[in-house]
Amino acid sequence: MAAADESLTLVWFRDDLRVSDHSALTAARADGRVIAVWIREVRDDEGLGPRPLGGASRWWAHESLAGLHQELAALGIPLLFAAGQAAAIIPRLASSLGVGAVRWSRRYAPASRSLDSQIKTVLDDQGFAVHSHSGSLLVEPWTAAPQGGDHYKVFTPFWKAVSGREVGDVLPTPESQTPLDPALVESARGCPAVTDLDGLGLLDGTETGAGDFAAAQGPRWWQDTVACHWSPGARAAGDQLEDLAAGINGYSTTRDVPADATSTSRLSPRLRFGELSPRQLLHAARTTTSVTPEDRAAWIRQLYWREFSWHLTYHYPDIDYTPIRDEFRHFPYEDDDEALSHWRSGTTGYPLVDAGMAQLWETGWMHNRVRMVTASFLTKNLLQHWWSGEQWFWDTLVDADEANNAVSWQWVAGSGADAAPYFRVFNPERQRERFDPDGAYIGDWLPYPPDASPSPIVGLADSRQAALSAYDRMKNMSAGAVSSRPVSPDDDDTRAV
Ligand code: FAD
Repeated sequence: MAAADESLTLVWFRDDLRVSDHSALTAARADGRVIAVWIREVRDDEGLGPRPLGGASRWWAHESLAGLHQELAALGIPLLFAAGQAAAIIPRLASSLGVGAVRWSRRYAPASRSLDSQIKTVLDDQGFAVHSHSGSLLVEPWTAAPQGGDHYKVFTPFWKAVSGREVGDVLPTPESQTPLDPALVESARGCPAVTDLDGLGLLDGTETGAGDFAAAQGPRWWQDTVACHWSPGARAAGDQLEDLAAGINGYSTTRDVPADATSTSRLSPRLRFGELSPRQLLHAARTTTSVTPEDRAAWIRQLYWREFSWHLTYHYPDIDYTPIRDEFRHFPYEDDDEALSHWRSGTTGYPLVDAGMAQLWETGWMHNRVRMVTASFLTKNLLQHWWSGEQWFWDTLVDADEANNAVSWQWVAGSGADAAPYFRVFNPERQRERFDPDGAYIGDWLPYPPDASPSPIVGLADSRQAALSAYDRMKNMSAGAVSSRPVSPDDDDTRAV
C-alpha cells in the first residue's frame, strides 16, 4: 500500500468516456493529480451494478476506451483497466494507490445507484473523501417533481418544468499534469483484477444481453459490419460536435425520413458512452447560428426525451422487465420462437420492418421512425413480449441505453408512462408509403431482392384485430384498472416519440 497522498485522486470513469466537460476530472485536477480507472463490471449476487453490455456496445466500449486511454495519456493521466466487481476493486485500488479521494460521474439506474452508495459507504469508512458529480444528465432526476408527486409520468409537463433551467457552462479539458511516479502506476497494474484493454475481453466470448447474438455470428463479426459505419471515441465525437448543424438542419421537417442519413444527428452512441455530454450538445445546439429556430427547438426537445427516460428509470427499478403500467403484467403475450426469429433476421415479409432489422444488424443503429415500426410489429402484430425485442436491441444497438431502450419499448408496447395508446398499431405498409415513398430506405437495407420477398408471416388486419382482442382480455383480467378507449381502424401513429 502506498503512503496516502491527499492531492492524488482516483477518477472512476463509467459512462463518461471524455476529458472535456467532465466535472469529476476537472475537480480532481483542481485538487492535484489524477489516476483513472474503468472497470468491466460484473453484477454482484444481489444484482447490483450496471446491466452487462450487449454485443455491439462491447465493441463500441472497447474502441472508445482505446481513444480515452490516448486522450488521458496526452494529459499525463494513466488509465487503468479492471474486470470484476467494482465493490471489491475500487476500495482496494484506492488504498493501494494511496489516493486521498475518489470521484465519479453519477449514474442513475437503481441497481447502479445502490452499488455506488455501498461503495461510497465503504470508502467513507476507510477515510477516503468521495465525491459524485453530475455529468450524464442535464436534470438530476430528484430535482424535478410535480406538485403532490415525486416524479413526472408525462413528458410535456416534465419538459415545461425543466427545459428553461440553467445547466451551467461547459468545462474545458483540464491542463496536463506532471507525470506520476511510474513505480506507483506499475504497482497498481499488479493489483488483482487489473488488466489491459484487451484483457477486459470486450471483443471476445459470447456473453451478451440476449445470450445468443455473438454466438449467431462469432464474437468478432462487428469488425466487418458495424465497424465500417462508425468511429468510436471522443475525438471523432468532437468532429461531430463541430458539425452539429448538419445533424440539426431540416430536423423539424425531415427527421422522420429514414433514408436520409442526415435527417437526424446520429449522436446517440456518443451520448450513451458519454463521449459527449448533454450539456456540450445543448450548448452547441443553442449557439450554432446556421440552423432555423424550428429545427433547433425540435432537436433540443428530443434531447430532453432522453432526460425523461432517465427520470423514469431513476424512479422505476427493473424498468427493463417490469411494466410501468401495472395492468400490463396480465397482458397475454404469446411465446413464438419462430415469429421472433423472423423478426430478428428481417424475414417477416414486410419491407420496412425487414429493412430496419437489417440496418440494425449491419450498422448497430436504426432510424427512430423504423424503431417504432419494428417494435410495434413485434409487440402487437406478432404479440411477442416487448422484453424479447428490448433484449435484442440491447444486444445489437451501439447506442443501447438502459433508460432509452426500456422506456421506448414500453412506450411502443403501451405499458409505459405517457405511452402510445395501445390501439395505435403502426401499419408497416402505410408507414412505408408515408416515410419512404420512393423506396430509398428499403433499397438501401432490404435483406433480399424485392421480387424475392418472403410471404408475410401474418396478415396486418387479422393480427391487428388479434392484438386488440388481447388488449381487451388484459383489461378484463385487471378489471377496472384501464379506461376503455374507442378503437378506430384508421388509428396509426404518426407522431415521433
Ligand atoms: P436525434 O434525433 O438526432 O436526437 C438527438 C438525441 O436525442 C439522440 O441521440 C437521443 O439521445 C435523444 N433522443 C432522440 N429521440 C429520442 C427518443 N425518442 N427517446 C429518447 N431519447 C431520444 N435511444 C437510445 O439512445 N438508446 C436506445 O437503446 C434506444 N432504444 C430505442 C428503442 C425503441 C423501440 C425506440 C422506438 C426508440 C429507441 N431509442 C433509443 C430512441 C431513439 O430512437 C434514438 O435515440 C434515436 O434514434 C437516436 O438517433 P439520433 O442520435 O440520430 O437522434
